[in-house]
Amino acid sequence: MAIDSETRKWFERHFEGNVKFDEPMSRHTSFRVGGPADVFILPRTVEELIMLIDYTQNRKMPCRIIGDGTNILVKDKGIRGVVAVMTRGLKKISHAGMESGHAIVTAMAGARMNALCRYAIENGFSGMNFALGIPGTVGGGIMVNAGTSHGSIADILDSIVVLLPNGKTETILRKNLDYSYRNLVMNGETVSTCQGDPLVLEGNFHLRRSDPDRLKNEADEILKKRNKSQPSSHSAGCFFKNPGSGKTAGELIDLAGLKGEKIGDARVSEKHANFIINTGSATANEIIDLMTLVQRKVLEIFNITLEPEVKIVG
Ligand SMILES: Cc1cc2nc3c(=O)[nH]c(=O)nc-3n(C[C@H](O)[C@H](O)[C@H](O)COP(=O)(O)OP(=O)(O)OC[C@H]3O[C@@H](n4cnc5c(N)ncnc54)[C@H](O)[C@@H]3O)c2cc1C
Repeated sequence: MAIDSETRKWFERHFEGNVKFDEPMSRHTSFRVGGPADVFILPRTVEELIMLIDYTQNRKMPCRIIGDGTNILVKDKGIRGVVAVMTRGLKKISHAGMESGHAIVTAMAGARMNALCRYAIENGFSGMNFALGIPGTVGGGIMVNAGTSHGSIADILDSIVVLLPNGKTETILRKNLDYSYRNLVMNGETVSTCQGDPLVLEGNFHLRRSDPDRLKNEADEILKKRNKSQPSSHSAGCFFKNPGSGKTAGELIDLAGLKGEKIGDARVSEKHANFIINTGSATANEIIDLMTLVQRKVLEIFNITLEPEVKIVG
């Protein structure tokens, strides 16, 4: 999508120092792959974000909101329109209320999930430790229901704040959010980003009072286990969702003899079969081809269709 000079000037005037054009998404994704975004913006305030949404919606310009890019695979041709990243200024964390040993901790969408976990530990609130070591932002975690075998975002969420099409915000209670495994479906009227998702501004988490030292020891154990089982190379975490019951996606891929399988610089990790890693300068096409090969072999052998957990965009 060609950005004309008037549009370019508007972005430069309103997002001075926080806008880039033709910005390679490989710089903003944990896979380290992906072609350019036409316009790449780091809004610093909610007001800037509202102005951006207003401008792009009036011009029917696609606008995609991302966090840390740790759960997306951007195609080699890149992303048309605007990509807005929440991590520049929208990352405040605070808490309120300590009634009967409970507190509500509020985190803006651009706060890092690990910062939220650390905040909870330091303030003696339990419930967040399951998310330790999950990279990415609170907004991304809310959208994909990030989690581990110890729990997921949906378990501790009290409510979220979303942006409405009229520029106002609305709080939506957890009971009105349709959460499932690594998924959130939302009904009702909210700003719809170009991918059809609501725009999440913040999350409120319901945590319990606990002892910071006990939480810290538990955290050390969880992180030790994680670091042992996961590869450190560039990836987007587990590539496929675990199928409903029985074996995990990683076990199926391992049993299919696919550990170490590679296409170009994309490889199925030897350490954790559900991780596709970029061992050097993989392209998105190579990763997608490897994904397809894994899906085909697992279907042939086990008659199970693996569904990607990673979102392919562009
Ligand atoms: C090494 C590694 C380990 C991982 N381990 C885990 C794990 O244990 N468990 C797990 O669940 N995941 C894991 N992941 C995947 C990923 O870290 C999580 O899914 C994380 O929550 C994604 O957050 P993000 O900010 O990077 O989101 P992004 O990848 O930037 O975005 C994910 C999706 O959310 C949308 N989005 C982001 N922010 C907003 C917003 N504010 N409003 C509307 N839409 C938004 C994006 O458009 C996109 O569709 C891992 C990834 C890596 C690289």
